[in-house]
Amino acid sequence: MVKITIEEFAKNYIKENPGEKYKEIVELLKEARERKKSGAACPTCGKPMWMAGSAISGEDGCYFCLTGEKDSSEDYEIE
Ligand SMILES: [Zn+2]
Repeated sequence: MVKITIEEFAKNYIKENPGEKYKEIVELLKEARERKKSGAACPTCGKPMWMAGSAISGEDGCYFCLTGEKDSSEDYEIE
């Protein structure tokens, strides 16, 4: 995973999704980070939660369960 800050991720996200609000995305990302800190893991397989994807999709999970992809090396994760 490529690590970036919450602010960078939110900026990139709203650039690609112009209907979304920066502040709301930052809030969602912070909440996802809090859930992971307090021990949340992927409910399907128990792997570490993908915070960025969980925040955006509104559903907690690991990268692999949320995307169905096998390679996470080029995707972003928040710090
Ligand atoms: Zn999983």
